[in-house]
Amino acid sequence: MTIKLHDTHRGRKVAFEPLVDGKVTMYLCGPTVYNYAHIGNARPAVVFDLLTRILRRRYELTFARNFTDVDDKINAAAIETGKTIGEITERFKIAYNEDMAALGVLAPDIEPCATDHIAEMITMIEKLLEKGHAYEADGHVLFDVASDKNYGSLSKRDLREMIAGARVEVAPYKKAAHDFVLWKPSTPELPGWDSPWGRGRPGWHIECSAMAEKHLGKTIDIHAGGQDLVFPHHENEMAQSSCVHDGDAFARFWLHNGFLSMKQEKMSKSVGNVLLVHDLIKEFPGEILRLALLSAHYRQPLDWSDETLKSARRMLDRLYGAIRGIDVSDEARAAAEAPQSLVAALEDDLNSPKAMAEFFALARELNKSGDETEKQRLAATMYAAGDLMGLLQSDPEEWFAGDADGQISAEDIEALIEKRKQAKANRDFAAADAVRDELEAAGVSIADGRDGTTWRRA
Ligand code: AMP
Ligand code: ZN
Repeated sequence: MTIKLHDTHRGRKVAFEPLVDGKVTMYLCGPTVYNYAHIGNARPAVVFDLLTRILRRRYELTFARNFTDVDDKINAAAIETGKTIGEITERFKIAYNEDMAALGVLAPDIEPCATDHIAEMITMIEKLLEKGHAYEADGHVLFDVASDKNYGSLSKRDLREMIAGARVEVAPYKKAAHDFVLWKPSTPELPGWDSPWGRGRPGWHIECSAMAEKHLGKTIDIHAGGQDLVFPHHENEMAQSSCVHDGDAFARFWLHNGFLSMKQEKMSKSVGNVLLVHDLIKEFPGEILRLALLSAHYRQPLDWSDETLKSARRMLDRLYGAIRGIDVSDEARAAAEAPQSLVAALEDDLNSPKAMAEFFALARELNKSGDETEKQRLAATMYAAGDLMGLLQSDPEEWFAGDADGQISAEDIEALIEKRKQAKANRDFAAADAVRDELEAAGVSIADGRDGTTWRRA
């Protein structure tokens, strides 16, 4: 049996085969880092984290998830807050990774930042110009959509219809309404880089094309993201990347998650109906949020409500309840395998609701069993299933005591470091040492340097 995945390009579920035997490359469009991620933004991170876990069972996976750290929204946030762009992006990169870690999202193999790949973007744009797929106009470089005969094939749009139906006001420098920006000029107060077209900054789409190629090669196996990225972002990425390589495939499988909504309305910053992961994790163990996100099939809509969370909590209580009090050694846990039925559900286009049903079947079997050895075997299998799905990562007793996921937050760490600094300033060294001990006890080590105190989790 092979893994099956729904490919947006072919419009159906297909058997997955990597380009190179045994190896898979995967790229997920990551966040634009100018504020905290909401739980809708976390959906692609969590569902495709699950996919990486499934792929790694069979293949050597290289998984890249980028940070978009140059963007007009970041510029606007810098102006609004009086902070530098670097301060904003650094802060929210760290916050994003902390929030995702709390949801059990494993760190990607590569986390490229757009601003570290400007040279690659410029080279790619130069090649597109050379090959007649782009043109320069008024300090901008634009992709010439009409030059790509495949344009529209990912999002199933007919270019002629698009042109006929275009109501957008066309910028005077564009040849056609749907031509999109590869490079645009920057004013002195905006971030910019020298380029053959003057000081400027890249368009959003070219960033992902350049980062994917640099780290994963010109043709990648899987490209993933939220449904709203199909058009224009992914359509444009595909156009740039395949045109630069004379029509070679860019991504062999395109995967898109459905929207998370609240009261049937898509969760989005522009609507203003967002629940930040940063806030939710103060109230709920990360596993509850993770399971809630996995409770619907990833391509289906997911309506988020109190009931979604209550139901995820009930489910986890049942799973933790089954393994509670059963002694499973680390060795037995490491040696156990997730049940084949659960793996098969996940290998069938990531059917997480079916996988959960298999998980509960296992819990029922364990609850019914009267034999101690059998109970231990089943509990070890449950842990293995949990390790695969990113669940059951807490001690059952701690889970029921309510202090699972009790990791100290970055905010609290910073506050304690500030408290220690004050204590030192007041020459109250005992108080300063007490804070250091408190941090050590929470698994955080600190180091004093010329630029202040830095910290890291043990
Ligand atoms: P953004 O930072 O807005 O570019 O979004 C980051 C990721 O979250 C992208 O893959 C989006 O497609 C995805 N996304 C944004 N809003 C939602 C939502 N309400 N439900 C599911 N995915 C979303
Ligand atoms: Zn992207």
